[in-house]
Amino acid sequence: PTMAHSKALLVLENFIGGKFVPCSSYIDSYNPSTGDVYCRVPDSGKEEVEAAVKAAKEAFPIWSSKSPLERSQILNKLADLIEHDLEAFAQAESKDQGKTITFARTVDIPRAVHNFRFFASSILHHVTECTEMSTMGCVHYTSRAPVGVAGLISPWNLPLYLLTWKIAPAIACGNTVVAKPSEMTSVTAWMMCKLLEKAGVPAGVVNVVFGTGAKAGEALVCHPDVPLISFTGSTLTAQRITEKSAPHCKRLSLELGGKNPAIIFHDADLGQCIPATVRSSFANQGEICLCTSRIFVQRGIYSEFLKRFVEETKKWKTGNPSDPTIDVGALISKEHLEKVRNYVKKAQAEGARVLCGEGVDRLALPPGNQKGYFMLPTVIAEVKDESCCMQEEIFGPVTCVVAFDTEEEVIKRANGVKYGLAATVWSGNVGRVHRVAHRLQSGLVWTNCWLVRDLNLPFGGMKASGIGREGAKDSYEFFTEVKTITIKH
Ligand code: NAD
Repeated sequence: PTMAHSKALLVLENFIGGKFVPCSSYIDSYNPSTGDVYCRVPDSGKEEVEAAVKAAKEAFPIWSSKSPLERSQILNKLADLIEHDLEAFAQAESKDQGKTITFARTVDIPRAVHNFRFFASSILHHVTECTEMSTMGCVHYTSRAPVGVAGLISPWNLPLYLLTWKIAPAIACGNTVVAKPSEMTSVTAWMMCKLLEKAGVPAGVVNVVFGTGAKAGEALVCHPDVPLISFTGSTLTAQRITEKSAPHCKRLSLELGGKNPAIIFHDADLGQCIPATVRSSFANQGEICLCTSRIFVQRGIYSEFLKRFVEETKKWKTGNPSDPTIDVGALISKEHLEKVRNYVKKAQAEGARVLCGEGVDRLALPPGNQKGYFMLPTVIAEVKDESCCMQEEIFGPVTCVVAFDTEEEVIKRANGVKYGLAATVWSGNVGRVHRVAHRLQSGLVWTNCWLVRDLNLPFGGMKASGIGREGAKDSYEFFTEVKTITIKH
């Protein structure tokens, strides 16, 4: 046998009621940078979800009655433990997802740590409302309480980062949870489970059930004892979840896809804008819901922008994700790679020009990565606004660049898609950036920067990009039930 075959596969187990439990069947999980199966993930269904919900329900009375300070201390301890193992988590995330080790080390895992610290702190600082109605002799006040068992479903692009962005606020507020990570990227969630007991998280507070969306995910969504579902993933899946949860009137938070525009005016500082827009297009292989995929450039600077943008894109090195000098790793799966490539083919068939990347430049890979799911960062120009490449979420290292003339025109075109998650605006004119930001249909607008986040403030999308917001106050409100109490003297 070859080295790859002689190595034992990593076998994950569900984490239910504080214990690791094996499953009767498993799914293969691939290392996207080699194309090898390296891990087996439980193929959970109704039975496993049932056990996890039961454990979460049992843990709820004790966990929900702890003080915010007690919960905060446990969250901080968990953050410290993950941080202590940061390198091991980063290696695992890179291997499981295909992302570069540098990205996992500097973005994914530090943010997962920060998610716990952030909510450990923010949970201590909420105040409820109070009003006085003196003519009636009444005082009204609100009180907030955790809801119960929260179902948390997360995608494969930022596995531990996005899962902890849900677990942290859910348990900080006193809920217990059943989490279902993506079947394609389950390893870091399983590693986190190993630290829960040591952090002081009581058994049953965090349960993780691994498996597919159709089986495990849907069982969670349909479970009558799970009153709220926080979901991050595609718009299509969100529609299915909405349908399935409707009979139970569940509370839903939906963080979905995007087709994010960058709008670049003639007075933009191109020295800053170009590297930032290359990053916003291709970071994490373009597999971030906030990635730019439609770049509108004002006509006067269009040619110069395009030339410099392509030059800058070509500096990004694609290859073995475990090499710290690499900028672009592997895409999540063979199927996803094919889907992304097909968009480039469709654009070409429609008469668009591919300026660099897929089909234009040669991709040289080390011998061990020949079967990995790699693709060069690809820039397409002269694409029509109606083209699927300008309308649909590609979620890969592909970006389209087009020209515009006026502010009025570009706002209309930028808003001309079904999504509304994030936008960037580049201009030196402060009046213009305000005007444009106000008129964009987008939950987030970054001007003269990208991905600068204050977790205190709302995060989420408009239109087909989602329902609800996440952030210090927003997550607190989602994960608690409010009550208005009136006292008459
Ligand atoms: P996906 O919708 O296929 O899967 C997301 C999760 O839902 C997975 O855990 C999956 O197993 C589960 N799932 C699938 N079908 C289900 C069902 N019927 N019932 C319950 N659960 C089900 O999405 P993906 O391909 O994993 O992730 C990529 C998508 O996520 C992109 O559209 C991207 O834009 C979006 N995303 C959004 C944000 C955001 O914050 N707005 C962040 C990251 C990713």
